[in-house]
Amino acid sequence: MCLFCKIIKGEIPSKKIYEDDDVYAFYDIAPQAPVHFLVIPKKHIESAMAMQPEDCEIVGKVLYRGQQIAKDLGLEESGARFVFNCKEDAGQTVFHLHMHVVGGQKFGWPPFPKEG
Ligand code: 5GP
Ligand code: ZN
Repeated sequence: MCLFCKIIKGEIPSKKIYEDDDVYAFYDIAPQAPVHFLVIPKKHIESAMAMQPEDCEIVGKVLYRGQQIAKDLGLEESGARFVFNCKEDAGQTVFHLHMHVVGGQKFGWPPFPKEG
């Protein structure tokens, strides 16, 4: 079973923010911003690249819940970044689809400018 499936089952502890039948939200163990949490579907989907048509509803719920929590945490006015790292080039390290929500500071764009 993957790391995030174990977190959903409570076999690995996490700082839970929200849970319902379809989604689970928790703080990232290594925050990269003043606010940094993850929202995941309870269904194991490897990455955004593995999403199927029948996953549209649950992935929509992931996005909606991230938006609700971001508002609850006071980010509605200032904004936040919603990120799905997908496979090797994006640096995905846990292969259970997850949305990062980071906020509480300004972020640059593009995120990783080309050098030279
Ligand atoms: P990725 O790099 O795959 O987009 O993001 C995986 C995220 O999961 C990373 O930001 C990492 O800090 C977080 N993470 C990895 N292991 C754990 C864990 O055991 N607990 C929590 N809360 N976050 C984790
Ligand atoms: Zn999983």
